[in-house]
Amino acid sequence: SKSIEEKFGTLSTSSDTELLSKKLLEGLENGDLPSAVRLCMKDIEGSFSVVGVDNDGRMFAFRDPHGIKPLCFGQDKDGKLSCVSSESVGLSINGLQLDSHVKPGELLIWSEDGLSKEQIVAGEKKAFCSFEYAYFARPDSILDGKTVYKVREEFGRNLGRENPDVTEKADMIVSIPQTADDAAYGFHIETGLPWERSVRKHRYVTSRAFISSPRERDKIINKKINVSRREIKGKRLAVIDDSIVRGSTSKRMIRKMREAGGEEIHLYITFPRITSPCFYGIDMSTYGELIGANQGADEIAETIGADSVNYQSLENFIKATGMKRDHLCLGCITEKYPTPLASKLANKARERFEEGSEGRERIYEAADLAEEIT
Ligand code: SF4
Repeated sequence: SKSIEEKFGTLSTSSDTELLSKKLLEGLENGDLPSAVRLCMKDIEGSFSVVGVDNDGRMFAFRDPHGIKPLCFGQDKDGKLSCVSSESVGLSINGLQLDSHVKPGELLIWSEDGLSKEQIVAGEKKAFCSFEYAYFARPDSILDGKTVYKVREEFGRNLGRENPDVTEKADMIVSIPQTADDAAYGFHIETGLPWERSVRKHRYVTSRAFISSPRERDKIINKKINVSRREIKGKRLAVIDDSIVRGSTSKRMIRKMREAGGEEIHLYITFPRITSPCFYGIDMSTYGELIGANQGADEIAETIGADSVNYQSLENFIKATGMKRDHLCLGCITEKYPTPLASKLANKARERFEEGSEGRERIYEAADLAEEIT
């Protein structure tokens, strides 16, 4: 950001969109749109999926060379209206057809002459965010040719196959709505256990608990999720959820289920254990806050008050996505990040955490480290 500030003055926001648009402007000073996008792809490391309109009224879209986050495009049935969306569902709900996904490192420009595509940067390691499959993507979106909810059903089947003893340990399945519902269906099909829809989500509370402050999180969960005592009282529960980040949301959910009379609570988690932060735009805690960075499944169970915690294996998770392992970003699970700066940040953050000097801020917010790392 230093060179940008020298050229354009102090950034007025902490938004990466401002940084990226100024980088584009810098490139446009001496060149055309493709060369400006090339400059962005060369100088900015990380995840970006960009859509814009230039001065000539042309719409353009590009995606970082690793393709960390999704970006797709489509058109209406007459081919008169083109649209870009982060997920295919953004097209279908507007009556548009999905054409394709923007390739990592590719630039698309729509002008009066039609659509032109240019591969600006090629050959970088593909690294699509694996957390999209477990949590972020809408279930009815299509990622890499697969409908997301089908992948989640397979996650559930995998969990059932990996834990054949569940039929002795639990009387029924419940799922944390809504991201875990599809996995619960797969788990139900695989194990034959009844799936009780006794944990329900408030239709109008849409805030996401894990990206809020602790106080807000409490309020959100209480308002958002309700547990039906009548169905779960005295029952041993196999609870399906998508992920455990800090553990605080799971802890509150388990407390609610115990208060409602749940006898035993065994958690089955579709996303493998999160052991390190995300540096690609998802505000996913520091090492100190991430429960999986510090504890294994048994310790986590004890901390959050569950009888057991069972994660889907990484191998089966990858298989269910249908993606090649080396085409996925698995950074927050394996601590192997697809880009060098993220690896440096992770090393530094872990070092600080182990020394006991990790602050409350995210590592990339620690101004004193910026120079040291870059
Ligand atoms: S580190 Fe995790 S959440 Fe972040 S982009 Fe990679 S897989 Fe997604």
